[in-house]
Amino acid sequence: MKKVHNFSAGPCILPQEVIEQSAKAILEFDNLGLSLIEISHRSKNFEAVMEEARSLVKEILQLKPNYEVLFLQGGATLGFYTIALNLMREGGKAAYANTGVWASGAIKEAKLVGQTDVIADSSDKNHSYIPKFEVNGDWDYFHFTSNNTIFGTQYQEFPKSNVPLVCDMSSDIFSKDFDANQFSLIYAGAQKNMGPAGTILYIIDKEILGKSGRKLPAYLDLQAHIDKDSMYNTPPVFAIYASMLTLRWIKANGGLKGMEARNRAKKDCFYNELDRNGLFHGHSVPDSRSWMNPTFRLNDDSMAAEFDQMWKSAGISGIAGHRSVGGYRASMYNALPLESVQVLVDVMKEFERVKG
Ligand SMILES: *Cc1c(COP(=O)(O)O)cnc(C)c1O
Repeated sequence: MKKVHNFSAGPCILPQEVIEQSAKAILEFDNLGLSLIEISHRSKNFEAVMEEARSLVKEILQLKPNYEVLFLQGGATLGFYTIALNLMREGGKAAYANTGVWASGAIKEAKLVGQTDVIADSSDKNHSYIPKFEVNGDWDYFHFTSNNTIFGTQYQEFPKSNVPLVCDMSSDIFSKDFDANQFSLIYAGAQKNMGPAGTILYIIDKEILGKSGRKLPAYLDLQAHIDKDSMYNTPPVFAIYASMLTLRWIKANGGLKGMEARNRAKKDCFYNELDRNGLFHGHSVPDSRSWMNPTFRLNDDSMAAEFDQMWKSAGISGIAGHRSVGGYRASMYNALPLESVQVLVDVMKEFERVKG
């Protein structure tokens, strides 16, 4: 099989060794004569997978002992509602920043639960920038989206806040060095930077739970999952296994600092070319650029068919932009090698040479 340069926005590229080991585990797991997906999730073999996945998250993020780690189902989309239900007090309120499609999805779900104040908003310029603001008030928590997967913007610094910080890190978790201990809750769907679709990672400061005064349905009660060591019901075993392998890969490749060095090299390679090349421009303003999902356009859209033909024949896949932004989006998640970015940059250079 000839591998292509995979710039898909999600589900996304995973390390080749993770794909290979996952494939083997489907055929036979732990020399059991059984597949990973046909053994009990209560077997000691799978319990070891779950425990390793949870402890690798704690280790890579250097979490203090007050944090719990869960791998649940429902994706970040169910997370939007779940976190509001668990963290917003009966009669309380929450603050949100609206910086894109996923942020506004989170706001919509929070409104079902209680008073949701949008205190920062970049929709005036089609979410091409991250607003500058501080959070001072009596909200139960402040929610933001660290990386806006669709628009290609990313907070370069986290907002200062006097209320508990809650963050959707679906598309940039484990991509850079950061202090996770400043957050009360982080959640991230696996399929952007960590594993296949089917599981969502929660990182929760236990102190923040149990204050809402609400009666919660069992599956949406984060404390119920903590009490059962992330095994309240049958977990998505395959997605968790592959995520665990990716976490091992992250650790073996230098953890957060290693990922940051890798991703810095890729974003420099790409944005240097974008700024140099006379045929393209970026969607996001330079001081809000995403390291994970650069969005860009041709200055002259009538050249699109020729450019598309060129990147396709270079073995590039997945750079068509999202319909709400148009143009192109070259997602450069952790597992994407620098060589793939170099191939894209070479195509952009060659296109300029031919057309410029
Ligand atoms: C993809 C994405 C989501 C939605 O994730 P699902 O797992 O599909 O529910 C939410 N937030 C961000 C930032 C995303 O990139």
